[in-house]
Amino acid sequence: MPTKHRPTMRIGYGFDSHEFRPGIPLKIGGMTLPHDKGLGGHSDGDVLLHAITDALLGAIAAPDIGALFPPSDPKWNGADSVIFLREALRRTRDAKYAVANVDASLILAAPKIGPHTAAIRARIADLLAIPADCVGLKAKTPEGLNLENAAIAHVVVLLEAGKPAPTKKRKKR
Ligand code: MG
Repeated sequence: MPTKHRPTMRIGYGFDSHEFRPGIPLKIGGMTLPHDKGLGGHSDGDVLLHAITDALLGAIAAPDIGALFPPSDPKWNGADSVIFLREALRRTRDAKYAVANVDASLILAAPKIGPHTAAIRARIADLLAIPADCVGLKAKTPEGLNLENAAIAHVVVLLEAGKPAPTKKRKKR
């Protein structure tokens, strides 16, 4: 039997990794960054948007990005990852939750993310319709991990329950 318990807050966690490949554009956080390599694999390889998408889907216990958008489906080859994020956001809103804040760690050897942090945060804030000061983004280099050719993203997201629809009560006469 389904439970009636409805948390006022829900946390979501997402992880993703992609391998660098020469000669393709580098997409991170919905932005194209100048670099001689991009991220291969599923869709446009936007490792950060994929992790945010999975964090949102996880928070509402929905199927994950791979289940909703299978990498085996040629339809998603080179697809704009914003499509995946928008679907996760739609499901979040359907579940009557709103995004409170998001925090992300990016791990990659190059390029340097620092010069692009503000733009990426603003882009994610815009996509999620939250203020930029509710988007955390830290970039780390993969010290000691021997992962120079990979980009990794870890993301947590906090959702707040929307106000429940008022229950109609009949006036007693
Ligand atoms: Mg991915």
